[in-house]
Parts: sequence; C-alpha cells; structure tokens
Amino acid sequence: MARLGNPGNTIAVLERYGFSFQKKYGQNFLIDRQILEGIIDAAQISREDFVLEIGPGIGTLTQYLCEAAKEVLAVEVDRHLIPILEDTLSSYSNVEVICQDILKLDLIRLVEEKNGGRPIKVVANLPYYITTPIIMSLFESHLPLESITIMVQKEVADRMQEKPGSKDYGALSLAVQYYARPEVVLQVSSSAFIPRPKVGSAVIRLISHKSHPVDVSDEAYLFQVIRASFNQRRKTLVNGLKNAPGIRVPREQIAQVIEAMGLPATVRGETLTLEQFADLSNRLKEKEQP
Ligand code: SAM
Repeated sequence: MARLGNPGNTIAVLERYGFSFQKKYGQNFLIDRQILEGIIDAAQISREDFVLEIGPGIGTLTQYLCEAAKEVLAVEVDRHLIPILEDTLSSYSNVEVICQDILKLDLIRLVEEKNGGRPIKVVANLPYYITTPIIMSLFESHLPLESITIMVQKEVADRMQEKPGSKDYGALSLAVQYYARPEVVLQVSSSAFIPRPKVGSAVIRLISHKSHPVDVSDEAYLFQVIRASFNQRRKTLVNGLKNAPGIRVPREQIAQVIEAMGLPATVRGETLTLEQFADLSNRLKEKEQP
C-alpha cells in the first residue's frame, strides 16, 4: 500500500473503496506530508512510545505513527473505514484498530491491558465537533498520560492557552492548564485537508504536569466552581456561584469568602487565576452546608 500524505494517494484510496465522507463524524483527512511530519516531531514520538490515536480515518497519520512508535492503538467510530484501514495499515505489525466511539471506551482498562498501565502519548487530528469532551474525558479519567498532541480548531487551541482577563479565557483554559502545559506548535491552513474545513486549524501539544500546579482538597468541586463562574459571563462571581449545581454555600458566605481573599465584591470569574480558583474552591468547600 502506497504511503499516504498527498492528495493523489488519498483520492485513489477513497475512490477504490467508494468512501463517502460523513459530516456528523467531523471527517477532514490530512493530505500534507509536511504537516504530518510536523505532528510526529511535535509529539516527540520514539520507539519507546505507546500511542493512542483517536480517529485514524483512512490511516494517514497512523502510518507515520507506526513508523515512529513502538505500538499504536487507533480508535475509529466509522465502521466504513475499517476495511480501508486493514488495507492501508497492512504492512505494519505494531498497530491495532478498534471500531468504537472513543467516549464510550474504558481507556484506563485498555491502557492497563495493552501497556501495563504505563503512561501513553495521545496523537490525533481530532473530529472538531467533540474536541472539548474528548480532551476533558482524557484528563478527568486520570489516564496515565505523558502528552497529548492534537489538531484542533484554531480558536480552541488559542482558548486552551489563554490567561485571565482575555475574553476567550474560560473553563477550558483552566481545566487544560490544571492538568498540562499547553503550547501551540503549528498553524495549519485548510488546504492541508480533504475536504477543507471551514475553520482554521492548529496543532497544540499538552504536556502533562508531573504534579498539579495547585493544591485542592476536592478536584471535582474545583471544576464545579470553575464551571459555575463562567456559566453566565456577565454575572459577578457571587451571583454565578449562588444556587449553582453542587455548590451549597449561602450567598452571604460566598461574599465573605471573596472578600477574605482580598477581591472586590463585584469581581468576575474571568479575572481569577488558577491559583485563585483553587483557593476559592478550598475556602467554599469548608463552608459547604450539609
Ligand atoms: N486521522 C485522520 C487524518 O488525519 O486524516 C482523520 C481525522 S478526521 C478529522 C477525524 C476522525 O475521527 C474521522 O475518521 C472520524 O470518523 C473519527 N471520529 C469521529 N468521531 C469519533 C469518535 N467519537 N470516536 C472515534 N473516532 C471518531
């Protein structure tokens, strides 16, 4: 099977199998060799690495991963792609393809089974319609992760890196920065894909922190506080937090906590750092009503 990564070979495979793109699965296949090599370089894949690829498509990025890694596990939801993958990956013995929705897989069990629970690298050109749920489920499941290197919509990549005060700073920025150090490594034009996506793309690398950058008494509670604080952006922090799901602290006590942190009563969530959210969540947790 020819090496994929250029328009001619991709179109030939698609025609041979009479494949039709499914919009609902966010299918935009990479056809640019430079970008593919850029992803492998950015992910720093070596012969020691076990790689999880989400959404292999026709196996383009998968071929590059197989050449560089020790083992590749590729999870593809579209069953029409499975016979194509059997063909395009036939010359590699270090790859396994699973036909499943990534959000429905027990990844902890799989990594335990396939890699003895040792940390893995995730590499993917993600389907854009479920980027955030995929990233959150990888982190929140506490999968042993070394890094995640992914192609995402440009705006989403920017949001992950944002700092307090920016209009795009929000729950995703804080969640990603709690678990990892984000760095945008490549800007990608839509001509690198078939079909071309309507939005700009970027490759972002998230290197997992060895230990979390802040101490929290209850991680799930921290994320409830963060979500409530950004749910209605125009509201003050006090109004966002009162009556929020999972937070049972009376309004006056929320106001007292905010004041005790040296913040103005009218402060909004978008100005707080991760450290301040951790402090806020620890203080509110102590005041939780039974
Ligand atoms: N990796 C290929 C490439 O770069 O050419 C394809 C990338 S394409 C943007 C996204 C892939 O994810 C598609 O093959 C799509 O079918 C698959 N996909 C979509 N939703 C998925 C899900 N929930 N679980 C697993 N794969 C999914």
